[in-house]
Amino acid sequence: MSNDVPGKCRAIAVTGSSRGIGAGIALELARRGFTVGCLSRGGGLPDGAEGTFIPFTCDVTDESSIKAAVDGFAKAAGGLHGVVNNAGLLVEQKSAELSLSTFNEVMATNAASVMMVSRDAFPHLVAAGGGGIVNIGSFWDKVGVSRNLSYCASKAAIAAITRCHAVEWARYGIHAINIAPGYIETDMNQEFFASDATKEWLKQRSPLGRPGVVPDVAKLVAALFCEDIPFLTGETIYIDGGQAIAQ
Ligand code: NDP
Repeated sequence: MSNDVPGKCRAIAVTGSSRGIGAGIALELARRGFTVGCLSRGGGLPDGAEGTFIPFTCDVTDESSIKAAVDGFAKAAGGLHGVVNNAGLLVEQKSAELSLSTFNEVMATNAASVMMVSRDAFPHLVAAGGGGIVNIGSFWDKVGVSRNLSYCASKAAIAAITRCHAVEWARYGIHAINIAPGYIETDMNQEFFASDATKEWLKQRSPLGRPGVVPDVAKLVAALFCEDIPFLTGETIYIDGGQAIAQ
């Protein structure tokens, strides 16, 4: 175990760790010496895994799958000291044509999952004497984006869930933070960034003129666990290259 790992935060479960931002977070945590529970639908490890990983199959829309994975990881790792609620889904649909099933699917994957994973992690975090919950929201949580009502609503819900957990569970030594990334190049927006027009638009729109990369988010999440700052709780931290605040 590296010296980066504070005594309190040793075993961290990451949902949606198969690829993209979740894989990056899992790899970065392991690189810093944490034992990482890779919770993914496929039940495998991210490419390039080096360090201590314990994989579990977990569909974050399936309550029993979540409970089995969270309890299983806590048992296998000898405790649970943190969770990263990363798994997410974006489905674009015009609001005038939005089906309830699409809305419910996105809300279930992005927001209800945060409630369920955190709830099932709670007794383990209490048993560990406290710990951290890091949720992956989005800078779309407080803007209106055409064709993305479900996604925006789900990310706003994550920010609200984060605040409630922070307030209700502070007495147990549990702190909760919402990380809200801007555009990060992953599978989720591969098509979007395939067009030169999009790249040109972002050049004009964002102070940095480009999307972020997975390590930007991964390093921030890992730093939060390494630094262990319980007084920082309930907040949403935007990591978007200044895009949302730019005029
Ligand atoms: P990807 O599409 O690259 O990856 C999504 C991840 O979520 C995959 O690991 C996928 O697993 C997993 N996932 C989806 N549904 C489920 C499910 N039901 N159960 C378990 N795992 C599931 O997306 P990103 O890496 O870009 O996104 C990760 C998080 O970051 C999401 O919450 C997203 O909303 C957020 N985010 C991303 C931004 C971006 O620009 N990329 C910007 C802001 C926020 P599988 O391999 O099984 O499909």
